[in-house]
Amino acid sequence: MTYQRQSTRRAPNGQTIRRRGTPRNGAGSALKMRLIIGLVVAAFAFFSFLSKREVNPTTGEVQYISLTRDQEITMGLQAVPQMVQQHGGLDPDPEAQALVDMVGENLVRNSFAATSEYPFEFTLLADDQVINAFALPGGPTFITAALFNQLETEAQLAGVLGHEIGHVIARHGAQRIAKQELTEGLTGAVVMAACDGGSSCQGTARMAQMIGGMVNMKYGREDELESDHLGLEIMMSAGYNPASMTRVMEILAASGGGARQPEFMSTHPDPGNRIQGIEDFVNENFPNGVPPEYID
Ligand SMILES: [Zn+2]
Repeated sequence: MTYQRQSTRRAPNGQTIRRRGTPRNGAGSALKMRLIIGLVVAAFAFFSFLSKREVNPTTGEVQYISLTRDQEITMGLQAVPQMVQQHGGLDPDPEAQALVDMVGENLVRNSFAATSEYPFEFTLLADDQVINAFALPGGPTFITAALFNQLETEAQLAGVLGHEIGHVIARHGAQRIAKQELTEGLTGAVVMAACDGGSSCQGTARMAQMIGGMVNMKYGREDELESDHLGLEIMMSAGYNPASMTRVMEILAASGGGARQPEFMSTHPDPGNRIQGIEDFVNENFPNGVPPEYID
């Protein structure tokens, strides 16, 4: 509710001056209104985010996801042709393609990834320039020839694919979409509360976006670490030596630094502490060293 104060006083020349409210009062109530609207928008974004809460049946993790499993799978499949096209089509070497397929299937069949029941597909892309591997929501998993050609052993390939399988079963793609929706909602709220329609609006919007970007960046790093861990579990279950993953990190670190960073490095600039994570995992699971039956 707003009201306007009226004051009456006598001017020096004897005339009566009527003054309507003060400008300060008006600006104050407008700010209050913007804050209220901002809070409502923020609360709406936050509660709709929380309403998406569910427990991941494979990882047991509490997640906030707005897509159903079927939507996730459909969305991933729809993006496949575009991904294949972007990376020069399928690799023409049938033996290399078969190896990627065999190692990928081996990982899924012999680990907890099988219980996720996502329709995994493993594809070697012809792109020999961009060193990368990535997975789409719901299972389609890719590695470029540029990365494939750098790998030295079957276990290293298993490590790369295992990490990508980790992203799929942890539903990181779908989770990122829900977080993006929350970020956009909250960004809108900040802008609405702080922007008075003047020149400060642009700066405020930019700042709010920056904060949003930083939040998403942090989630990205956590996703990478979780996928590293899931990938190591998966490759170990399938009989691959998890210590091989250290070399993959070194290969990726050596190839990084360009404008187009591989998916593995995109959100995590510090391969050093990821290598530490791999070494900790190996020491915990194999305190007496990795037995020779594990494939290198
Ligand atoms: Zn990753």
